Amino acid sequence: MHSPAMHSPADGTTTVTVLRDVRPWGGARSDLHVAGGVITAVVPHDANAPTDGVVVDGGVIDGRGLLALPGLVNAHAHVDKSWWGKPWVSYGGEGGVQGRIAHERAHRDELGIPGVDVTLAVLRESIRTGTTAVRTHVDVDLGVGLRGIEVVREAVAALGGAVTAQVVAFPQDGVLRRPGVLDLLDAAAAAGAEHVGGLDPATIDRDPVGQLDGLFAIAERRGVGIDVHLHDGGDLGAFQIELIIDRTLRAGLQGRVNVAHGFAVGQLAVPRQAELVAAMGEAGITMTTVAPIGAAPLPLHALRDAGVAVGLGTDGIRDLWSPYGTGDLLALTTQLARLSGFRYDEDLVTAARIASADAGRFVGRAVHDLVVGAPADVVLVDAENVPDAVVRAPRRALVVAGGRVVARDGEVLV
Ligand SMILES: [Zn+2]
Repeated sequence: MHSPAMHSPADGTTTVTVLRDVRPWGGARSDLHVAGGVITAVVPHDANAPTDGVVVDGGVIDGRGLLALPGLVNAHAHVDKSWWGKPWVSYGGEGGVQGRIAHERAHRDELGIPGVDVTLAVLRESIRTGTTAVRTHVDVDLGVGLRGIEVVREAVAALGGAVTAQVVAFPQDGVLRRPGVLDLLDAAAAAGAEHVGGLDPATIDRDPVGQLDGLFAIAERRGVGIDVHLHDGGDLGAFQIELIIDRTLRAGLQGRVNVAHGFAVGQLAVPRQAELVAAMGEAGITMTTVAPIGAAPLPLHALRDAGVAVGLGTDGIRDLWSPYGTGDLLALTTQLARLSGFRYDEDLVTAARIASADAGRFVGRAVHDLVVGAPADVVLVDAENVPDAVVRAPRRALVVAGGRVVARDGEVLV
C-alpha cells in the first residue's frame, strides 16, 4: 500500500491517488479518489485508513478536514500582457480604451510583452491562488501577429497541466479600422484558437454591423466561438447585443457566443433589461464579468434565471492598462459578491459557483465540479463553509490540478 510518493521529475508536484478527509462544498467529510487526472470516486471519509501527515505515501494526501472547492476558473484573462514578476511599471499615458491601447502599443516591447517568461509568471501566481483553468484573450494585431498566442501556448505547455487555457484571438487594436486584422483572426482560428474576439464594434471600428459580420463569418467558417469585449453602455451597448443575438441565431451558434463586460446590461431600466436578458437566454449567449468597481453590476440572478451563464474573470492583471489585479479569483469572488449586494448564504454559494463549477463551459469543460468524471482540480481552504470562504478568501492550503498537487501552503510547485 505504501509505495514511494510519485514525484514528477520535472518539478515538485505529487500525483494524487486519494485526497482524503476533505469537505466538498462544505459538506460531509469525504475521500476523493483520483486516477488519470480525473475524479473516480467521492466516498465518505474513512477515518480508519492510515495517515501520518499532510502527504502520505503513494499519492495519498490528507486534507485535514479542510473545505474543498473545484479549481477556480478565470473566464476572462489577458495572460499575454501582464508584467507580473517584473520591477514596478508606473502607470502612464492617456485614460479611456483608446488611450490605453495606444500606451500599450508604445511600451509593450520594452517589457518583453508578449513573452513566455511574463506569461509564466502570471500563470504561476494564478495557480498559487487556486486557478486551474483560464479563458484568456490574447492580443492579435498588425504588430505582433499571432506571436502572442504561440507564447501563451508555450507557457501553458511548460506548466504541464497545472492550468489549462482556452484562447480568444483578441483584436485589441480594432478589427475593420486595421485592415489585415480580420485575416489574422481567421488565421488564428485556423491555427487552433478556440474563439475569436471583438472590441466595441461601434466605438472602436465605428461599424458595428461590419465588425460583427466579419467575426461571425470566421466563426462559421472555422467552427470557433466568439467572445466580444463590449464596454459600450446604455442603448448603444444594448443595440450591439441585439446585433449579436440576431447573428448568433442565424448562424446557429447558440452556446458559443460570449459578451464580455456588457456594462449596458446592468445600466438598462428594468423592463428593457428584462427583455434583453430573455433574448440573450433564448440565443444561448453567455456573459463574463470582471466585477468592476464603479460600473453598474450585472443582474446576476436575472441572467442566470434566464439561462445566461455568467463567468468571472480578472481581466488584465498588473499590466499597461492598470497596476491593479492579483489574479486571485477567490478574492475577486468576494468583490463580485459585495458589488452584487450578496449577503444570504445561498447567494454567496452562487458567487462561488460562478467562479468555479458553473464556469466549466467557459474553458471547454462539460463538467467541472467535485464529482465523478470531473477533472481532478481541487482547492482546499481553511473555512467553516462556502459563505465563509467567499467573504474571507483565505489562503489556499492546497491546489490540485489534473490530479497533481501544484501549490501548497501558498507556494506554487510548478
Ligand atoms: Zn478584457
